[in-house]
Amino acid sequence: MAYRLSGKVAIVTGASAGIGRATARALACEGADVVVADVAEQGGHETADLIKSAGGSAIFVRTDVSNSDDVQAMIRRATEEFGGVDLAFNNAGIEGTQAAAADFSEKDWNRVLSVNLTGVWLCMKYEIPEMLKRGGGAIVNCSSVAGLVGFPGIAPYVASKHGVVGLTKATALDYATTGLRINAICPGVIDTEMIHRFTHEDPNAEVQMADMAPVQRMGRPEEIADAVVWLLSDASSFVTGQAIAADGGFVTR
Ligand code: NAD
Repeated sequence: MAYRLSGKVAIVTGASAGIGRATARALACEGADVVVADVAEQGGHETADLIKSAGGSAIFVRTDVSNSDDVQAMIRRATEEFGGVDLAFNNAGIEGTQAAAADFSEKDWNRVLSVNLTGVWLCMKYEIPEMLKRGGGAIVNCSSVAGLVGFPGIAPYVASKHGVVGLTKATALDYATTGLRINAICPGVIDTEMIHRFTHEDPNAEVQMADMAPVQRMGRPEEIADAVVWLLSDASSFVTGQAIAADGGFVTR
């Protein structure tokens, strides 16, 4: 079997759980050396151990993507351990609290924007120079269907995810001639801890969330991982600056 990403070094942020963990594992299955970056240490070590016990290559680096020093240290560790950076899935994100837009505290607003939007920019800021040293690469930023349409009750999240789409488009244009492709993935409702927290584990609320998609089910983290692997591989070599929904038809409705 041919591995699509042999010899490539891939960073995955928010890789201690959910979509990030599934994608880190999928990238390793394709032969990439994977940097598992997350604030959550136990889950991060678990993801790296899962990859290594399946015969893959991974290190865990504790990283808060909203902290510039952490992001820079994570990139340094990637280059020391694996020699450079080729691919990145900037996936770390938080759902924040729920309220009408005017009722959020400034602290809650700033926290969601600093992780979900500034965190993606900070990661790209330090990933891109390393990728350019190696003649290019590929980046996927994690947005959401909430980056394509509005939802009530989660204005900071919706704003941050729309921001990720705009940031992705602008940055893809900045580097279009350099061999670096940058796209966003926009997942629909995916069965992860984030959704369980969001619905407060209420089974009725979870069914309602699942029914929002025309396919009438939640997605699995592995279904997002497959799309991200495609976007990070040469199989998508003419795709850049796109925000691709993987959402069971949600935004088509
Ligand atoms: P999750 O909560 O299961 O995993 C998110 C991971 O990000 C966790 O491991 C967490 O520790 C990590 N993280 C949080 N803040 C961080 C920080 N400051 N620095 C580094 N890591 C941090 O959530 P998930 O569902 O896997 O979500 C992954 C991404 O997908 C998020 O950006 C989320 O907004 C997006 N998304 C999720 C869904 C969904 O339905 N689950 C839908 C659309 C988009």
